[in-house]
Amino acid sequence: MQLEVDCPICVKKPETSLHALWRCSSLKELRCVCNFAAGDASLDNVPFIEFVISCSSQLVLKEFELLCIIWWRVWHRRNKAVHNNNILPAAEIYDWGCNFITDYRGANERQYVQKVEVLRPPRWLAPPFGSVKINTDAALNFQLKVAGFGNKPPIAEALAILEGLRFAFSRNFSKVCLESDALCVVQAINNKSPPSSEVGVVLNDIFLVLDRFSEVSFAFVPRLGNKVAHGLAKLELNHEGESVWLNDCPLCVENLVLGDVPISL
Ligand SMILES: [Zn+2]
Repeated sequence: MQLEVDCPICVKKPETSLHALWRCSSLKELRCVCNFAAGDASLDNVPFIEFVISCSSQLVLKEFELLCIIWWRVWHRRNKAVHNNNILPAAEIYDWGCNFITDYRGANERQYVQKVEVLRPPRWLAPPFGSVKINTDAALNFQLKVAGFGNKPPIAEALAILEGLRFAFSRNFSKVCLESDALCVVQAINNKSPPSSEVGVVLNDIFLVLDRFSEVSFAFVPRLGNKVAHGLAKLELNHEGESVWLNDCPLCVENLVLGDVPISL
């Protein structure tokens, strides 16, 4: 049994979804202001979802979004009429929908800008004037069990830091900022708390070297801010002995080096 209930607003026609949201004579003014292609009369007897699909195919996305907001507000007006006996003017619905969607889009744009700022990848920053920055990393070839000064076990990272400091001292750099992407090693150095393991032995060597500098600091840097050191460490897996480039760099890290150059230079 199908029960037909008359539209509570015009009280002229059965209240189908299409009637309540769009075809009701009380919405005539709204339909005129909207100027949307509203689908032909043959859609009057099909499920409302088909009417919606027909509109979406005839409108650009922004118009269709506004139409959905307007339907939302029309349904709110209908409920006000049923439950509060209060019929809101249909003429105001279009402006209300436009304001709502403008506010909504504005809020989303602001969120997007904030997200971009938060997601900006970490990058290498130049040290203060008069200081030299040392970036260290270790790389490990697990198949050949070869460590290049590069990455992963803390002891390889700690040895990379020690070698970096020794190199800086050999070049007479007295003010150095050292950066490594090995968080636990950097924390152990800054806390002056060498663990009682092989890493601790290397850390004690590092502490001995520190006296040779007038200023030295250690900082953790995410991998993305340590790309050149990471590239060189991987390169060293294929070499024996020490490789030094002065005022130059291997071709394979050239793009990474140029990416680190401060924009102001
Ligand atoms: Zn009606």
